[in-house]
Amino acid sequence: MFVDLVRIRIKSGKGGDGRVSFHREKYIAAGGPDGGDGGRGGDVVFVVDDNMSTLLDFRMKRKYVAGDGEMGGTKKSFGKKGEDIVIRVPRGTLIKDAESGLLIHDMSDDKPYVAARGGNGGWGNVHFATPARQAPRFAKPGLPGQELYLTLELKLIADVGLVGFPNVGKSTLLSVTSAARPKIANYHFTTLTPNLGVVYIDEGASFVMADIPGIIEGAAEGAGLGFDFLRHIDRCRLLVHLVDVSGSEGRDPVEDLDAINAELRGYSEELAKRPQIVVANKCDILDPDSDNLQRLKAHAEELGYLFTSISAAANQGVRELMGLVYAELQKLPPVTVYEAEYIPPEPEAPTEREIEITREDDGVWYVTGAWVDKVVGSINFGDYESRMYFERVLRKAGVFDLLEQKGIEEKDTVNVGGIEFEYIF
Ligand code: GDP
Ligand code: MG
Repeated sequence: MFVDLVRIRIKSGKGGDGRVSFHREKYIAAGGPDGGDGGRGGDVVFVVDDNMSTLLDFRMKRKYVAGDGEMGGTKKSFGKKGEDIVIRVPRGTLIKDAESGLLIHDMSDDKPYVAARGGNGGWGNVHFATPARQAPRFAKPGLPGQELYLTLELKLIADVGLVGFPNVGKSTLLSVTSAARPKIANYHFTTLTPNLGVVYIDEGASFVMADIPGIIEGAAEGAGLGFDFLRHIDRCRLLVHLVDVSGSEGRDPVEDLDAINAELRGYSEELAKRPQIVVANKCDILDPDSDNLQRLKAHAEELGYLFTSISAAANQGVRELMGLVYAELQKLPPVTVYEAEYIPPEPEAPTEREIEITREDDGVWYVTGAWVDKVVGSINFGDYESRMYFERVLRKAGVFDLLEQKGIEEKDTVNVGGIEFEYIF
């Protein structure tokens, strides 16, 4: 089965929390803070795999979650980084936002693409040693990972797309010009997955040709392929339009040419205007009395197309055709790589301004709420100024008033959004 459109969910790892710990050694009563940082969460990374030609694997597995970072250790040791998850896709896969359908990234080149970055690890209390506070109980929580719903859509990257009715010899042509080994058979339902082949003309001169399942191929058998496959020639720079002139299938080559072009137009005007070389195939079994070849040539040229004739099976005229294709490609712009239309936002910072204060059994006063997390996330606790700012923000928001109303006492421990400190009036 050919699959070229799937929906998946990805999630990068949460950063590990920073550790609160103190250096302990025999005969030393209380050492300095030595809690290490949490490890960064793992990333979700896409890479191109040229051995893949469909998105079939994604039918089985739809959820891709990277590992969380580990908590920081004692003795200033860092928490282990969360494991990245690498997702392999065929070249030409478009990564889109599932909801809006907007393009996030085109997997056309060999650069890995980080689609969701792991959250940063929180700072351990080793960062928070200052002359004023020798024994900080500060440590920052790790930041959350990023969760995205994506659609993956395959739009093959090929310079040349082979189009034409079923059985005209598209697969045969690809097989005699490249190392690709598409199925070749004398029935109308052969090619259900696009095949790509690299055609070598000369040293350093080559192009990629794709045998695209026909527009009409399969559709006539009720397989309902319809236009779906046409997205794969969207970015071909040149179309090679094969027509069977032998009449072996009892059809008329001029009508065939027009029928396929009408289908192309039905899919996209732009595609119908793509440069085409019309190629009469199966000339080896052409009835000498038939005027098919002449009529097709006249018609193609009238429409402004380049025209040539070959026998793919007998390998006649094929070299010349490939030379012509290569020469035409030199005149055309490179394969389209789509620009991103959308950059997924970082995990959203909460905006609601609600504060909840509770005292737990451990005697710690917990100040929680989305607003608190946001403030804590924005503070660099290693920096004295930032800590002073943090204190001002809390005071202004009435956090200290609330705590005192609830009966907090000197030296009680307060935990504000994961950060602990001693309360001093
Ligand atoms: P596709 O459906 O367009 O991919 O067509 P195929 O490449 O599978 O070919 C369909 C049939 O036509 C096969 O039996 C081929 O062997 C045959 N065929 C292809 N090219 C030629 C040709 O140039 N001459 C002859 N006599 N038969 C051909
Ligand atoms: Mg075929």
